[in-house]
Amino acid sequence: MRILVVSDIHSNLEALTAVVEDAGRDGDIGELWCLGDTVGYGPDPGECLRLVREFPSYVCIAGNHDLAAIGKMGTEEFNYAAAHAAHWTAAQLSSEEAGFLGDLPLVVGIGKFTLVHGSLRSPVWEYLMSAEAAGATFQRMTTPYCLVGHSHIPFLCVEGGERGGFAPFPLDTKVGLGEDRLIINPGGVGQPRDGDPRPSYVIYDSEAESVERRRVAYDISATQEKMRRAGLPAPLVDRLEHGR
Ligand code: ZN
Repeated sequence: MRILVVSDIHSNLEALTAVVEDAGRDGDIGELWCLGDTVGYGPDPGECLRLVREFPSYVCIAGNHDLAAIGKMGTEEFNYAAAHAAHWTAAQLSSEEAGFLGDLPLVVGIGKFTLVHGSLRSPVWEYLMSAEAAGATFQRMTTPYCLVGHSHIPFLCVEGGERGGFAPFPLDTKVGLGEDRLIINPGGVGQPRDGDPRPSYVIYDSEAESVERRRVAYDISATQEKMRRAGLPAPLVDRLEHGR
């Protein structure tokens, strides 16, 4: 089965739609795994939740922005723009949608994978960006592989590897899953931060036991226009075209 792995959709419907179409161009997608922050920052929280939940089979976990949007987490730690967007998002969500977000698990184990937004040490807060942070998650992993999001930066991290095990996650290359324990970040869909504004996502092929990272272009200006009309903060609008 081909499983579409996405993270940090951030209410960006144009980006998510492009990813879903692109992922399906060379075969059916049997399941969606969504690593949190489905909402926050962008203009279409309800529509993005609908698209995720339309998948016949999906697994979705909570991110910090999901919890902030329903008041389950304060916005004191957020910068001005993120807090503003969280309050705006809260006002858009139906009570049913808020209930859905409130019921999302923080950590899910599926077969050989553990899914968590930030890290296993601190599921919705920690940015897994250092060897020390990776080590703490490897210690807690009970599966060979762990999928994380939150930083919006794609990477592969091999347990015991050089330079903390972090390596770039190559594009359009099937990476075989073998003996090495791995932490994998597919990159961000709705607000990439690695210098490339195109959404980044992963296809996990459970028969071939491989992961492949891909990118696809979308109509950034359409999302930006919606954000301006919604009165969302200008820095959030501008950063979409820079991928930072
Ligand atoms: Zn995020």
